[in-house]
Amino acid sequence: MRYQTHIITSVAAGAYLTTVTDAPFTFTFVGGIIVGSLIPDIDEPNSYIGRRSFGIAKLIKKAFGHRGLTHSLLAWMCFSLIYYFYPNHFTYGLCAGYLFHIAGDFFSKRGVPLFSPIWKKKFKFLITYETGKIGEKLIMLAAIFAIGYLVYTNQLYTQLFVQAP
Ligand SMILES: [Zn+2]
Repeated sequence: MRYQTHIITSVAAGAYLTTVTDAPFTFTFVGGIIVGSLIPDIDEPNSYIGRRSFGIAKLIKKAFGHRGLTHSLLAWMCFSLIYYFYPNHFTYGLCAGYLFHIAGDFFSKRGVPLFSPIWKKKFKFLITYETGKIGEKLIMLAAIFAIGYLVYTNQLYTQLFVQAP
């Protein structure tokens, strides 16, 4: 999944999350989601974040391979400690975005090693898309509509400027 698709699908999932939990659809929450949705690809030097990682991506790819450890539930749990220690809208978005990224790749043909490093098997959904192909474009389009629909029907725009507690 390209980084734009990760951002859009994660924001859509985040918008949905705000309608079923007490998470607020604030700029800081959405900002956290956007950043969080980019982080797992820190294991690929050519990814959007990898190209801005000052060489860290190269080291991680060498150590764990692309779509290795950073795409596992264990990595997500460790990453989520950020929220545990600094609970706020932004870190909440960060953790949600990270998980949504893994979910996005779960629907791709190559799958993700959910239980790495214990079990390196890559899991994927029954129906998958190929990165950069029409399937991904349709997912992107659907996510854009979903954001529009969720924001409009739930009046999420009224929460955008809510102050962090
Ligand atoms: Zn990824």
